[in-house]
Amino acid sequence: MENYAAIYAKALAGKRLTFEDALSLYQSSDLLALAKLARKAKEAKSGRNVYFNVNRHINLTNICVSRCPLCAFGRSSGDNGAYVFEVSDVARMVAETMQEVPDVTEFHMVSALHPEKDFQYYVDVVRTVKKFAPSVHLKAFTPVEIVHFCKISGLSIGSVLEKLKGAGLDSLPGGGAEILDDAVRRQICPNKATTAQWIDVIKTAHKLGIPTNATMLYGHIETIEQRIRHLITLRDIQDETKGFQAFVSFPFHPQNTGLTGVLPVSTWENLKMIALARVVLDNFDHIKAFWMMLTLPVAQLALSFGADDLDGTVVEEKIIHAAGAKTAKGISRQDIVKIILETGYLPIERDTFYQPIKIYEKDLK
Ligand code: SF4
Repeated sequence: MENYAAIYAKALAGKRLTFEDALSLYQSSDLLALAKLARKAKEAKSGRNVYFNVNRHINLTNICVSRCPLCAFGRSSGDNGAYVFEVSDVARMVAETMQEVPDVTEFHMVSALHPEKDFQYYVDVVRTVKKFAPSVHLKAFTPVEIVHFCKISGLSIGSVLEKLKGAGLDSLPGGGAEILDDAVRRQICPNKATTAQWIDVIKTAHKLGIPTNATMLYGHIETIEQRIRHLITLRDIQDETKGFQAFVSFPFHPQNTGLTGVLPVSTWENLKMIALARVVLDNFDHIKAFWMMLTLPVAQLALSFGADDLDGTVVEEKIIHAAGAKTAKGISRQDIVKIILETGYLPIERDTFYQPIKIYEKDLK
């Protein structure tokens, strides 16, 4: 415990933590002590602010060449429930959103790896979103999708990203990182981008001025050590590029996936991972509590464990709900403001770059 006390004091002083330090903090059962560290780190970055945005998720298709064991969303062509949106469908959805939610600031688009759609389809989708919503930020395509686009187009990562950026892509969501360890990836997602490829896409995007988020999917077959190495890999990339905007962790939902015998992640574990990420990722400004994965009550609690962002008032999300998430597919601005105010923090409606759009000092009636 003497060692733990020294590490705790080091963390409290805001010093950078090593792998061993992080492991020691994780192994302590004093969750509230870890929360205190995380809150201090959060308040040093974003004070009393807690952010959310008004966004719409679009998942273009669930038909996937990869069929990862971890995934409940992917289908093969002809399967029950398999779907793909054509460019005209995207045009309609974007136009409808602009009518129904005129203050939407972001489209968030991630999808499966369709076996037949060519790269031009994705370029056309981006152009179409921008045609109907030129001022709305388009955050689209995980590094896994970008690697797929390279395969189907024969282009390099840099060329794919440049073409998408030229068509109007603004940032990447950073999904598909899962756990950045190929031994784990070979079991949970053997056919999709490797660790090196995920990192290559992220670094190339940052070099091209395309910001991204960083993600982690935990609670399946990985060890605690692999989770911590994953966090340190992200921290190293951020030191080099400064291109990550936020870190988002997703607890694994085992329902309807090919990974059997995996228990759902507990609330205790979710809060511990958010707090640990906040203290290890000392060069990240924002740690998201993604309410749709965590549930609203746990996301609200996470605001006392170092998170400073609840993501969006999402409309129509399919991927997470395919894996059994019981959360609503959207939340009102009134509800999100209320749950932030209850924690004593200040709700800030933001754009994708964390620029304040509106500050809410009191409940919306
Ligand atoms: S995780 Fe992604 S790549 Fe893997 S099957 Fe699901 S949609 Fe396809």
